[in-house]
Amino acid sequence: MRIARFTTGDDPRYGVVSGDLDEHGELDPDATVVALAGDPLYVGMHPTEEQHRLADVRLLAPVLPRSKVVGIGRNYAAHAAEMGNDVPAEPLMFLKPNTSVVGPGDPVFYPHQSSEVHFEGELAVVIGRICRDVPKEKVADVIHGYTVGNDVTARDLQRSDVQFTRGKGFDSFCPLGPWIETELDVSDLRVQTFLNGDLKQDGRTKDLIFDVPTLVAHVSSVMTLLPGDVILTGTPDGVGPMEVGDEVDVVVEGIGTLTNRVARRG
Ligand code: ZN
Repeated sequence: MRIARFTTGDDPRYGVVSGDLDEHGELDPDATVVALAGDPLYVGMHPTEEQHRLADVRLLAPVLPRSKVVGIGRNYAAHAAEMGNDVPAEPLMFLKPNTSVVGPGDPVFYPHQSSEVHFEGELAVVIGRICRDVPKEKVADVIHGYTVGNDVTARDLQRSDVQFTRGKGFDSFCPLGPWIETELDVSDLRVQTFLNGDLKQDGRTKDLIFDVPTLVAHVSSVMTLLPGDVILTGTPDGVGPMEVGDEVDVVVEGIGTLTNRVARRG
């Protein structure tokens, strides 16, 4: 099931999106969204009578992380190599503030402090229950679903600061969407990033060094995870710079396409 957050001009609501994905991760034009009463993450699934054509609503970030977005660095060997790094012995964690989250179609703002802002297309895990010390075999119980993420990174600041906080933490540096897919086998999904239509990243989640159960177990052994927290699973090789005006599409097979444009902050 696909759960989106959307607005028709009024307060944001949640809804279930129907329709079939084509090979480009786009939904057919007749797709619809049935509004839910409340946030299904907290109140369960309560469909209402209200229904819209997907084309008539504006999609928003499908989740607002209550406390954190956890990023995972160097989780594909080919990406670690292109950055000149070894593969880590344990998952390499960092935090992005929840204020970095924006939705599909929202601008990614190019910060004046940087002159090298990169895209990183990633599979994102959305946590469904408060949890800690989750054993690998129980991880499925604490996952709400999966969405598409772009772990936008000011590479020059990441290098100069050593710490990732500034380079990964600017407002709008964590586009998520277009919706959450709640039923998906993520063990071998294609992850692609297109810059202005040109394919730049083309990986598969089977090449994750640490798979999703390992990541959730590891992160939850360090910090309590709350409903709506997000774990970005790492990016394949092929990362590169974006410029103001560029359009970036991240496509995760079985979920859909997350599109954002880079803008100068006004
Ligand atoms: Zn990343």
